[in-house]
Amino acid sequence: MSFEDLQREDNQYISNTYNRFAVDLARGEGATLWSEEGRKYVDFGSGIAVNTFGVNDEVWKKAVIEQLNKIQHASNLYYTRPQARLAHLLCQKTGAKKVFFCNSGAEANECAIKAARKYSFDKYGEGRYGIVTLKNSFHGRTMATLSATGQDVMHKYFMPFLDGFSYADPTFEGVKKCCTKATCAVMLELVQGEGGVRPLDEREVKKIESFCKKNDILLIVDEVQTGNGRTGRLYAYEHFGISPDIVTTAKGLGGGLPLGAAMFFEKCENVFGAGDHGSTFGGNPVACAGAVSILERLDEKLLLEVQGKSAYLFTHLGRIRNVLSVTGLGLMIGLETTKSSREVAEKCLERGLIVLTAKNKVRLLPPLNVKKEEIDFAIQILNEVISE
Ligand SMILES: *Cc1c(COP(=O)(O)O)cnc(C)c1O
Repeated sequence: MSFEDLQREDNQYISNTYNRFAVDLARGEGATLWSEEGRKYVDFGSGIAVNTFGVNDEVWKKAVIEQLNKIQHASNLYYTRPQARLAHLLCQKTGAKKVFFCNSGAEANECAIKAARKYSFDKYGEGRYGIVTLKNSFHGRTMATLSATGQDVMHKYFMPFLDGFSYADPTFEGVKKCCTKATCAVMLELVQGEGGVRPLDEREVKKIESFCKKNDILLIVDEVQTGNGRTGRLYAYEHFGISPDIVTTAKGLGGGLPLGAAMFFEKCENVFGAGDHGSTFGGNPVACAGAVSILERLDEKLLLEVQGKSAYLFTHLGRIRNVLSVTGLGLMIGLETTKSSREVAEKCLERGLIVLTAKNKVRLLPPLNVKKEEIDFAIQILNEVISE
């Protein structure tokens, strides 16, 4: 089948929700991928921050295949070892008390929203269900997480949305203004990903945290994209010196298989009882076995390497002509240039470099084990495309 045949079949039979780039990725090694026809690409997208250690990673594959050879699914009616092991590891590494597993970022945020409302109901009774999120945020595509997403463009067509959401300016004053007696939680991305790789100000975040603590408003940090080593710490909240009550994650957690998690810290560890929430696929043993192998490797040494690669990229990208700003944290980097981000991404692809976009930004999310030569190749191609 030729690539054109594939495009025709895809267009005919798949719902038109994606504006795909013209390549069919077939195989690879770390951050280097090949198309079906054998064209080589350096991957600075990681399947949107999912392939934490790139593709074809030996350690991850071994963990996944070992579990596949045992049992591929059991349901949450029964105990499975990889799930307990992964929850234990997450709690050990973060100080969280309990974990709920699901399959995606949206589901992790759905879970956090339900948990926050239940926490408040248990303690204060009905009516305290408001959740404050930020303008320009992205929390997912389900009805609740779309309601939580603070972008007007996402709020077309699908009315009515869930009651109780308001969208604050990304400052302490902004958040405070939106909070009322009926607010049960504030939900933040510390680096807005889809919104254009925009980190929040550390001092503002700290002030938001202490305001929340004082008013028993739960602080939910959405680390679906920033989590699992992406920013050079295991979770991005560590950069900000805050202690969230709920942390959600997904994307890079499974290293390539669908897996999401909501981590509950002290205040809400016992918010859910049997039957309050659930998922058929959530915490699938194969996905969890892979995730254990990812998390075990996200140690201090690896995180320091991520920080080093990040500093190198920030320095070199900042020197490219027509680059207006370089933002982000760790290996989550946004480039504002004088060109359209989609155009830059298309031209990079023609030259063998995969990059993403986020609004007007070119977005870089390479695998954490990306090699020096691959980084230099990416800088060279970005320089050619952006400075021309
Ligand atoms: C990607 C993303 C989501 C949604 O995750 P899905 O797995 O696509 O449901 C939610 N929040 C943030 C911050 C994200 O980056």
